[in-house]
Amino acid sequence: MFEALKPQPADKIIALIAAYAADPREGKIDLGVGVYRDDSGTTPIMRAVRAAETANLQAETTKTYNRLIGDAAYLAAVKPLAVGDTVDLARVTASQAPGGTGALHCLFELCKLARPGARYWISDPSWPNHEAILRHMGLPIAKYPYYDEATGAVDFDAMMAALDDVQEGDIVILHGCCHNPTGANLDLTQWAALTTHAALRGWVPLIDLAYLGLGDGLEEDAAGYRSMVSRLPESMIGLSFSKNFGLYRDRAGAAIVVAETPEDAGMAEGALAAINRLNYSFAPHHSAAIVATVLGDADLTADWQAELKDMRERVTGLRVALAEALKRETNSDRFNFIAEHRGMFSRLGLTPAEVETLRAEHGIYMVGDSRMNIAGFHPDDIDRFAKAVAKTIR
Ligand code: PMP
Repeated sequence: MFEALKPQPADKIIALIAAYAADPREGKIDLGVGVYRDDSGTTPIMRAVRAAETANLQAETTKTYNRLIGDAAYLAAVKPLAVGDTVDLARVTASQAPGGTGALHCLFELCKLARPGARYWISDPSWPNHEAILRHMGLPIAKYPYYDEATGAVDFDAMMAALDDVQEGDIVILHGCCHNPTGANLDLTQWAALTTHAALRGWVPLIDLAYLGLGDGLEEDAAGYRSMVSRLPESMIGLSFSKNFGLYRDRAGAAIVVAETPEDAGMAEGALAAINRLNYSFAPHHSAAIVATVLGDADLTADWQAELKDMRERVTGLRVALAEALKRETNSDRFNFIAEHRGMFSRLGLTPAEVETLRAEHGIYMVGDSRMNIAGFHPDDIDRFAKAVAKTIR
């Protein structure tokens, strides 16, 4: 029966990783895969994560099943981290999920149950897995333009114009902060305008929150989407700890629902637990326990926040250095937006042919749409990179 299977389209990022690994050139630069890297090029295990993991290993007394909805301490820590004190926590429910992808998948299934017929709006461009998962689930997709290539900023007018077609009950997926792939983010005024639009038109936001703390700070990054969540009766958040706790392969995430009433939140919780039962019964415990231990201990929390700040500042510092070097080498302001952007990614705005020239002639690897993982740079790479870009676009 397996003969009937069609070959799957190659994942572009995975192919890029393989091509990079096979490249024998010294000084090649990998800006492809979206993981944080430090100056030595490694994706570190964070200090607080290591300490919590070690402590949990000693303290653990059983491996028996936990609750279907997830570990109680984990969920109690995750809810206030996501929503702050903007809403009554009695209206909030959360389900432990295997990473942010798992959280989004659970939330899509919840929406499918609660709102058959809803359309799912995603930004154009967006993290490709949004569209892929929705397609896989057979859910209808609509797109709103998001990014203005010419200015490097959010094209808010175009976004709002497209959302004029939204129907009551539609789900609008928004990146909570650090938009992937563009790096361009909504400001507080734009979040407020979207909130008013949602309240008027009856659409429900689903916030994809995969980079909290990697933009301007934990509170700063949360301010926009929290202001929206606080003013609307219903919203959802798909949270990932892959990046901000560095737990990538261990898979910690949460599907969070803010309901209109505590009773509705209870209904949502029952549905989320049932969805878990159907998918995999129980989400993996190990990484969620690490997050719970860190967030449940003031010293570990402070250390996690300090290390997250260092990571964030490394990325922002690289952004400033990159923008300066590109300005110098190209003698133009074309790339100034890189310093304004936040999060791990920016799109350089090159053509696919220019991206290919950078790879072939200079050993610089980025995704075909010219998305760069800023954390992939070593400070020493920047001058050579800027010179290569200047030569390529000349
Ligand atoms: N949303 C966005 C926008 C992402 O970039 C990612 C990770 N690349 C995720 C969700 C999911 O992350 P994970 O499943 O690894 O936690």
